[in-house]
Amino acid sequence: MSEGKGDIALIGLAVMGQNLILNMNDHGFTVVAFNRTVDKVERFMANEAKGTKVIGAKSLEEMVKLLKKPRRVMLLVKAGSAVDDFIAKLVPLLEAGDIIIDGGNSEYQDTVRRCKELLAKNLLFVGSGVSGGEDGARYGPSLMPGGEPEAWPFIKDIFQSISAKVDNEPCCDWVGPQGAGHFVKMVHNGIEYGDMQLTCEAYSLMKDALGMTCPEMAEVFGDWNKGELDSFLIEITRDILKFKDTDGKYLVEKIKDSAGQKGTGKWTAIASLEYGVPVTLIGEAVFARCLSSLKDERVSAAKQLKGPSTTRYEGDKKAFVEAIRQALYASKIVSYAQGFMLMRETAKVLGWKLNFGGIALMWRGGCIIRSVFLGNIKHAYEKNPELENLLLDDFFKKEIQKCQESWRKVVSTAVLLGIPTPAFSTALAFYDGYRSERLPANLIQAQRDYFGAHTYELLSAPGKFVHTNWTGHG
Ligand code: NAP
Repeated sequence: MSEGKGDIALIGLAVMGQNLILNMNDHGFTVVAFNRTVDKVERFMANEAKGTKVIGAKSLEEMVKLLKKPRRVMLLVKAGSAVDDFIAKLVPLLEAGDIIIDGGNSEYQDTVRRCKELLAKNLLFVGSGVSGGEDGARYGPSLMPGGEPEAWPFIKDIFQSISAKVDNEPCCDWVGPQGAGHFVKMVHNGIEYGDMQLTCEAYSLMKDALGMTCPEMAEVFGDWNKGELDSFLIEITRDILKFKDTDGKYLVEKIKDSAGQKGTGKWTAIASLEYGVPVTLIGEAVFARCLSSLKDERVSAAKQLKGPSTTRYEGDKKAFVEAIRQALYASKIVSYAQGFMLMRETAKVLGWKLNFGGIALMWRGGCIIRSVFLGNIKHAYEKNPELENLLLDDFFKKEIQKCQESWRKVVSTAVLLGIPTPAFSTALAFYDGYRSERLPANLIQAQRDYFGAHTYELLSAPGKFVHTNWTGHG
């Protein structure tokens, strides 16, 4: 046994674990591999890891002995109890100052708890977001580590070496304490839900309002990918729309219109309600998936509930395609502004100091939401790290202003044609709400005071709460 050679151990030989190990190996690190089902270690060593420096371990005891100190052990197992089970088995084998990293999609509250529990045992815990799927893991993911800050100097080199790079900068930096890494990964996934829904709405308008074919739409997405919307999701949408099945028909049109979810979008929506931040676009994106999954009910309702007499747009087709692009861009700006609002508020409540420019940089490459646009967000936070809201940054103010007329035209046309565009619409409603000096919440306050004596504050007397007997009855 080659004791003390391993730079890091990686537990979990499914898609993500295997690819991260090979990525670490490519960057010169010696990785010790382990898996609950030990047969998989042997298979991995005989196939994918053949000819590499990877060392297979047959037990956790052997794995720990093979590591340099302080020991670094990374878990890439199913989120939930599997992580706690492995931690419980590792604790008696490790010593003070050793580091456990959870790279799975764990809930951030679990990471907060694990950090505290392990610190009490003098072990350093890191919860890291890992994004980019199989390909990212293999050739450069976006990594979002957070937890015990003392662990960072010991994992920085490995993490920044294997992560994606944009303009030679690694898409990985220390996010913040406790569950900050997993929280930021959760918001990333929520934003991914939003971006996907926005793309779907653009596709739906082109298909239903303009009657465009798959290759025509593929061309449009290809053009969009050359400008402000240049991003992984727009690029793959172009490729998906071009893809023909073996019978020569476009595959996307044969796929059942019922979308699943694993929960990170839902968690973002729940966190936004918990912290009272109006992250409306991600919420709508989650609900749009819920509505899509009511396929049988929708098929029946479609026969009974009437909409407008036509879903076709009769105006200038080319101009409307450009208006859709602008509506998508403006809505995307609102979605990211909302995501950053959530991170800002959560950081305030939990006492985390988050580097928002750094977060934008981490998402700039390697992950599913990677885009040129994230570079603009990074610049906005570099210019002003205390920026209250992205919408108030000069660049984004101008961009929204440029798109505004088209955005309103697209949303109103969709409403008139009966084509659902929940994400475009909620983004615009948020924008109009956010820029309103006065909202009708005064009436809500009056109603609450009327039926529940909840009191209200007068504009003329800030901080003074009064109750009125609205009915004149005793
Ligand atoms: P996965 O399917 O989520 O998990 C499989 C791994 O977990 C296997 O090593 C399995 O061991 C182990 N495992 C499952 N239940 C266990 C238990 N009760 N006790 C101990 N080990 C258990 O694998 P994955 O898709 O590679 O993802 C790994 C983590 O990364 C997950 O948290 C996932 O959410 C996250 N993630 C995945 C992606 C992606 O694109 N797939 C992207 C980003 C993040 P056995 O072989 O013994 O069953």
